[in-house]
Amino acid sequence: MRAALPRFDITQSAEQLRASFRFAEVVSLRESYALLDEGTISAILDQAAAFAADTLEPLNRAMDAQGAQLQGGRVHTTPGHREAWAAFVANGWPSIDHEVDYGGQQLPLPLCLAVQEIFDRACPAFGMLPVPQRSAARLIAAFATPDVKQALLPALAAGELGATICISEAGAGSDVLQMRTRARLTPDGWRISGEKCWISFGDHDLTHNIVHCVLARSDDGSAARPEISLFLVDTRQAGPDGVQVLRIEEKLGLHGSPTCTLAFDKAPSTLIGERGRGLAQMFVMITQMRLAVSAMGLGIACAASDVALAYARERRQGGNPGDPRPIIFHADVRRQLLELTTRTELLRGLMLNIANLAELAGHVEDMADRDRCAALVQWFLPIAKTFGADCAFANASGAIQVLGGAGYTSEWPAEQALRDARVLSVFEGTSGIQAIDLLYRRVIRDDAGLNAFLAQARADGGDTPLASCLDLLETAASTLKAASPEDQNAGAAAFLELAMLASAGWVAARFVALPGSGDAWERTRAAGRYWLDRIRGRGAMHYAEAVQGAGPITHFEVFA
Ligand SMILES: Cc1cc2nc3c(=O)[nH]c(=O)nc-3n(C[C@H](O)[C@H](O)[C@H](O)COP(=O)(O)OP(=O)(O)OC[C@H]3O[C@@H](n4cnc5c(N)ncnc54)[C@H](O)[C@@H]3O)c2cc1C
Repeated sequence: MRAALPRFDITQSAEQLRASFRFAEVVSLRESYALLDEGTISAILDQAAAFAADTLEPLNRAMDAQGAQLQGGRVHTTPGHREAWAAFVANGWPSIDHEVDYGGQQLPLPLCLAVQEIFDRACPAFGMLPVPQRSAARLIAAFATPDVKQALLPALAAGELGATICISEAGAGSDVLQMRTRARLTPDGWRISGEKCWISFGDHDLTHNIVHCVLARSDDGSAARPEISLFLVDTRQAGPDGVQVLRIEEKLGLHGSPTCTLAFDKAPSTLIGERGRGLAQMFVMITQMRLAVSAMGLGIACAASDVALAYARERRQGGNPGDPRPIIFHADVRRQLLELTTRTELLRGLMLNIANLAELAGHVEDMADRDRCAALVQWFLPIAKTFGADCAFANASGAIQVLGGAGYTSEWPAEQALRDARVLSVFEGTSGIQAIDLLYRRVIRDDAGLNAFLAQARADGGDTPLASCLDLLETAASTLKAASPEDQNAGAAAFLELAMLASAGWVAARFVALPGSGDAWERTRAAGRYWLDRIRGRGAMHYAEAVQGAGPITHFEVFA
């Protein structure tokens, strides 16, 4: 029997959401958002917490113990998964993010991510299906024809249609341009052939049908290396020979989420958007998926810190002989708990702020403001994705430390959290690739997002210790701009660390300055103060590593 995860306390989440950056403006952007008064937000989060506790949390252990299995060429999910999915659908959860015109509830992104945190806190593997579903819907809404939208979007919103993102191939992981999968133009339309690997929920028994969002080289016979375009493949239409599951992976964590190798053999497909613009268009989906990694990281980080806190209140060790004290009274344990809570609070704050910016970037009327918000989202995206991944893993590891030997055993959920969290810094672009993306695309090529961030954070941070960290970030950016490509590459990861420190520092400065009373706010403010107290020393360290160049690592050339 495994110890239960404490039920999610929505107070913190509801208050942070309402106080998040420009949330009041977000609520006024669309008619469907205007209904979101305080009570409605709390009711939605409360229902999510109840569903997570009653349905998802019991499934989490079962999914870990018995993952999805491939039998007779079809993926069978863990016993209990189908019932949980049916309840998820019956409660309307798949539709919260989708447009009203296609049967969705169209709630704002920050609220959808707050709900995702609650579900992923209870069972991250379960969340691996709804995320591509709603991200695919955004992609289809942006680029598909009205007929395709009408055919697919209501089914996605209703949870009747699964969706995947099919990019990776054996020889094309981080370097997508190496992909070989081809779509050939035939008299009957486009037909895709090739192999995609590591496709999450590439097959399953939860929905009647699955739509694959596939990047492939669109070949009409006119070019030796055709350009990459975006296609949709409908599994039912393709038939069992058109899309086959070759295998599913045995892996470290997320056992309930099948990771499939899919073979496409002349599968009928629909070209979406413009030929040759596949990768650029796919970024609509990738953006949503990276934000979702941040939310999943938050769910896991939150579960880990809550388990550690509950355990530390109960476990008695040390103190007077014969009268052991709960370990929470030891200063070193309190320090560890503060680390865990701080990461959870700041990650939540950052994720909500970015989600608000994404809403404003799509809908605010003032075009200059829209551009500024869009630039900020682009700046924050690799930061939020990596910070989410890092916080999840660090908190799972930290929770094991607080629990001691118990934490290392499967009697407690921390060891599963550690295994589940590990992949977050790998999929949707590794942390190394996020660092390179941030430095090359968001600093060297176009620094509008960096500049907008520095201006906003300086305005909000005042003369807190954040100010010196922002100066270091600005100096590191200009030093790296002028550096050689090798020095830039060597410094990218430390620059990302510095950017994460500063971005969370911005959230911390806002926490400290915001009015609000009660235990929830005290906890949030304590997290902010803790982060700001240590930002100076940590900033100096990351800065030094970011600008030191490739010199100190050249002795590793012995491995070349
Ligand atoms: C559980 C799971 C689920 C997944 N789900 C999906 C899915 O649904 N759809 C999908 O398309 N893919 C999926 N993936 C694949 C995932 O996106 C890739 O694993 C990831 O993009 C990294 O690619 P790779 O594994 O080939 O690593 P590689 O690209 O081989 O990278 C290996 C290492 O080299 C580094 N590296 C690579 N290139 C550079 C460079 N130019 N400069 C510096 N460092 C570099 C990387 O940072 C990494 O540390 C999934 C993977 C897993 C494990």
